Order: sequence, then C-alpha cells, then structure tokens
Amino acid sequence: MDRINAWITYEEADIKEMDSLCADYREFLNAGKTERECVKLIVKMADEKGYRNLADIIKNKETLKAGDKVYNVCMDKTVAMFNIGTDDMEQGMAILGAHIDSPRMDVKQNPLYENGDFAYLDTHYYGGIKKYQWVALPLAIHGVVCKKDGRTIDISIGECDKDPVFCVSDLLIHLAGEQMEKKANKVIEGENLDILFGSKKMTGKDKDAVKETVLELLKNKYDIEEEDFISAELEIVPAGKAREAGIDRSMIMSYGQDDRVCAYTSLVAMLAVDKVKRTTCCLLTDKEEIGSVGATGMQSMFFENSVAELMNAMGCFSEIALRRCLASSRMLSSDVNAAYDPLFANAFDKNNASYFGRGVVFSKFTGSRGKSGSNDANAEYIAKIRKMMDDNKICYQTAELGKVDVGGGGTIAYILSLYGMEVIDCGVAVLNMHAPWEITSKADIYEAWKGYKVFLQEA
Ligand code: MN
Ligand code: MN
Repeated sequence: MDRINAWITYEEADIKEMDSLCADYREFLNAGKTERECVKLIVKMADEKGYRNLADIIKNKETLKAGDKVYNVCMDKTVAMFNIGTDDMEQGMAILGAHIDSPRMDVKQNPLYENGDFAYLDTHYYGGIKKYQWVALPLAIHGVVCKKDGRTIDISIGECDKDPVFCVSDLLIHLAGEQMEKKANKVIEGENLDILFGSKKMTGKDKDAVKETVLELLKNKYDIEEEDFISAELEIVPAGKAREAGIDRSMIMSYGQDDRVCAYTSLVAMLAVDKVKRTTCCLLTDKEEIGSVGATGMQSMFFENSVAELMNAMGCFSEIALRRCLASSRMLSSDVNAAYDPLFANAFDKNNASYFGRGVVFSKFTGSRGKSGSNDANAEYIAKIRKMMDDNKICYQTAELGKVDVGGGGTIAYILSLYGMEVIDCGVAVLNMHAPWEITSKADIYEAWKGYKVFLQEA
C-alpha cells in the first residue's frame, strides 16, 4: 500500500499558501522558544481574533453562548481555547491537542559557581536528549526570575545579533582518546551539562573573582541577586532562528519543532475556523516531554475544570453534562512522528514509517514494547477520519514510531482517552527529533494545517 507524495499534487497557488504558512510558522518558532513565550504569543493571536479570557467572564459573571470564543490560561504555561458551536455541549467537542514544551536544559536553583577562572551555570536537562548533541554550539537563556517583592523579570539573552551567547564545552579531539572509547550516553555526562557563563575578573581576589564579577553584572543590568536563582525558571535552548533547509527550500530546520509544529498548525487552524456546529477546542499544553505531570501538564485537572467553567458560563453545567461532553468528544492528539531516515534505516519498519512529503501522519497507537503506555485508536474512528481526509483531498500517511521493540514514545492521547472520547495521534514527521535542530517538511506542515481545519469543521 503506497501513499502519494503531496508535492506532486501542488499547483502554484498551493505553493504560495504553503510558503506563507511556513514563513509565519518560522516567526512563531523564533518568538516562542519556551512554553511561557508560546502562551504569550497564543493569547495575543487569540485576542486579535476576538477570543476573550475565560477568567474575565467568570469574574464579571457574564454568560456565554454559541458564537462566543474564549481561552483559559494555566500558570502562563498551558492554554485551552474554545469556539462555542450551536450544538448542545453534551454532544461533545472537536479537540486539537498539542504540547508547547520542548527538550532543553533548565538552570538549577543554586547554579552559579566558579572553577578554573570560569563562571558556570549548573543545569539539569529536561526531556529526552542525546547529551552529546548539546555541547559546542551557541545557546540562549530564556525564562523568568521572580523576586521576593512580587516582580517577575523576563529574560531572553542570546537571540539578537548583539546579544552574547552561551555554551557547554566539549573536550578537544586531540585529548579525547579515552572519551571516544566511551558509550554515547557517557561521552557527555548530565552533571557536566554546565553553561559557560563568564570569564572576566574585575578584582584582584583569588577566590571567586569571576563569579563576583558576574553577580555584579547581573545586579546592575537585570536587578538579579544570587538568591533570586532560587525562584527562577531559566531554560537553556539553542540560540538562533528557524531556517529554510535544502537547496530547494523544501524543509524547515529549527529548535523546538516537537511539538510546536503541531501546536502552531493546530492554533492557526483553530483561529481560522469561525462559525461551528460542534464546539471546537485547541489545547496547547506543557510538560509532555516529562510525562505530562504537574499542574500545567495534561494529567492535571486544568482541562476538565476549564470545560466545567465554560459550561457553567453557558448555563448548561452539571456533573453528568460535563461527563457526557467529554465522553462524546473527538480528538486529534497532534504530536510529531519519527520521520524515516535512510541513514538509520534499521530503526524503522519501512512499510509503517512516516516519510517527508507524504502528508500528515496518523498513528493508531504509540507506546513501546507491545504497545505499553499506548492509546489504541478505534478502527471505527479511524474510518471516519479516513473519509474526512479523503473527501477533502488531504494527503496523509500512517506510521508507527520506529520498529517493534526498538524504542517508542508517548503523547497526551492516552490521557484524554480516559474520558472515553475518541482519540488518535496525528502529526508531522520530524527528522532529528529532540536534537537541538530538528527538521520538518513544508508540505507536511501544510497538509497538517489543512487536515486540522477539516477536522474542526467535520469531526
Ligand atoms: Mn511530542
Ligand atoms: Mn518529544
């Protein structure tokens, strides 16, 4: 069974639309390198499309009705958007869910130390990374420092041409004989992912003079003291912008495409679909890369509470109505898939892998080792989705994440499926997934965006 390549179906107008979508997507990637930055962007874009903050509706005791659009934000890191349709809420929603956190290094709470006349920031990595990929490349610091007086200082250093960048050092090849004999997971140890932060001495002191110089600079420039690191969230990410890739400019190379490629396409699909019968929802969540834990992860009550508040404001809330709404909903868990890489062909089952250019990827199940930890989408639901995609000429393919027993991965699909709703994994194929720079195909981004719009209108 072969799938067609989307590129051969395109006319000039399609290419134009695709390039415009991908240009906007690159801007989103450049401005949203952390979950907090993404939420800021999402709220701004939603505001411009007439969405209102659900918290304001609740505070002002306003009511909501069909045609109204709202969003709810959790701790500046997760956001749920709703476009209320004319159908009864008990008939369920059409939900697009993606995540906006990405693998990175987080600065520890007591991070700053000096060694060998260098100042370092100690980090603990976040999500699954090949640690050896994160050394000897320019890094940026993004995040917040919260002061005891209630102020929050926003930090973004390393993205402008004039900004300094940071780095984790690697051993020179000339002295790396012993290192090169090590297993890849030991070549760079997690505890050694420390950020080179400074090297200047402004006093003649022997001990900690570089660290003191750094602290003085932090105080003068950012009003940050050493103890403020205790209440900071600083994320170390690759410095630099998303770029077009390939001589034919057919691809995008950027940090954070897992899963912002699905988050962005879901978001703009949500904003593009106006009047709906069935209420639509776009859920852009945090903490997927570490198991969807915590208040801002998919396992929290945030989403369920948001739907309860929405129904309450619509005057149709009851415990049973909420349960029926969730159980009757249909969802695309929009998350990336592992693109087939001919240079590592052994990791894939060629007939059940996703390929660049063959469109949006549907995965019946994820998980690993005998589908453990998987959401297994129902055949009946997949048949409906097939019809929806075929009727609207969306290019799509199906895939498992790698060969049986080679590895695996999870998404948020299994968590939403616990409500009894229909859920299937559906996303964009990514090459180099979880590397500092990940690659996607423009055609797949375009097909995902079109497919998500169709889903919101027809699911
Ligand atoms: Mn993902
Ligand atoms: Mn991931």
